[in-house]
Amino acid sequence: MTVHAYGAHAGDQPLELLSITRRDPGAHDVQIDIAFCGVCHSDLHQVRGEWAGTLYPCVPGHEIVGRVSAVGAHVTRHQVGDQVGVGCMVDSCRQCADCEAGLENYCDGMVGTYNGPTPDAPGQTLGGYAQSIVVHERFVLRVGHDASQLAAVAPLLCAGITTWSPLRHWNAGPGKRVGIVGIGGLGHMGIKLARALGAHVVAFTTSKSKRAYAEALGAHEVVVSRDPSAMAAQAQSLDLIVNTVAAPHDLDAYLTLLKRDGTMVLVGAPSTPHPSPQVFNLIMKRRALAGSMIGGIPETQEMLDFCAEHGIVADIELIRADEINAAYERMLAGEVKYRFVIDSATLGA
Ligand code: NAP
Ligand code: ZN
Ligand code: ZN
Repeated sequence: MTVHAYGAHAGDQPLELLSITRRDPGAHDVQIDIAFCGVCHSDLHQVRGEWAGTLYPCVPGHEIVGRVSAVGAHVTRHQVGDQVGVGCMVDSCRQCADCEAGLENYCDGMVGTYNGPTPDAPGQTLGGYAQSIVVHERFVLRVGHDASQLAAVAPLLCAGITTWSPLRHWNAGPGKRVGIVGIGGLGHMGIKLARALGAHVVAFTTSKSKRAYAEALGAHEVVVSRDPSAMAAQAQSLDLIVNTVAAPHDLDAYLTLLKRDGTMVLVGAPSTPHPSPQVFNLIMKRRALAGSMIGGIPETQEMLDFCAEHGIVADIELIRADEINAAYERMLAGEVKYRFVIDSATLGA
């Protein structure tokens, strides 16, 4: 099937309307009519060639929601008409220890929703800035939210799970003080989710103007990280920090805010390295510096079910597909609160 999509032919070219081919659903495949797709900062890194190895044409998009329009003969998990989501993965080896553990995100054979290996033309997977997608049923999630919330559910598929997974792994909850660094697409979900899990939430932002927004998102405290005295007031106070910042910065400024045995988890993925932190800031208090990548399929379903139950969605600005290049510039300028979502109906018939 030929469908419309938005993608780029090179890292220094704008995204443009393309015609791409989706395979016919195989026995275990689900075909989805995409209703909305969130715009993640990773999309921008990848399509502009800021991370190594981008293959062109590149169609980004891994915060996909829509409805099932066809299923293969052996599909058992989903039916035509179901409201579903697809995140950052469309397949994996399905048999290694990571896959067995439901942590397909760490499988060496994980296939990204875009720029991943595939036998389908053109040789790399093409993502969700498109009218439809065909995905193995194991990588299709159920969305229990009301249909009217669907656009705002889309960012849960990456921004939501990428913050949920470390919050759960490092036991964010009642009695824990959790820092969320960077109030963008990921960070705003981190604040909502940490709050809903029962933690005391401290938001860190470089943008003074986001203070009131961060409080409205659920932060108990907001610290403007450019203010040294406000930073010093948080010294040795946090059990966990989830750092979402998309650019290199001084990690020591945050490591010193951890209690003994506290952990800072890096989820932001800048294209150039952070300056190396001071070893003494780690060894003096047995602190840990960790990383985390999206989340596995079972925990993604857990997060979606939790959000449906607690009425949690992203704060979004809906855009037409042809506004994507301007949206990238506005994302870089920090002008979006907090996620752009493409209305896939604007991709045309
Ligand atoms: P975003 O919406 O652009 O938010 C990033 C936030 O970082 C900004 O809102 C800003 O918050 C803060 N920031 C501070 N200094 C910055 C600078 N110089 N440049 C850019 N941001 C700066 O991005 P996002 O979609 O949340 O993604 C954040 C990062 O996570 C990206 O690198 C993305 O590739 C990565 N990511 C990783 C995973 C994973 O699995 N680990 C998954 C998805 C995305 P303040 O204004 O509050 O300071
Ligand atoms: Zn993403
Ligand atoms: Zn595997």
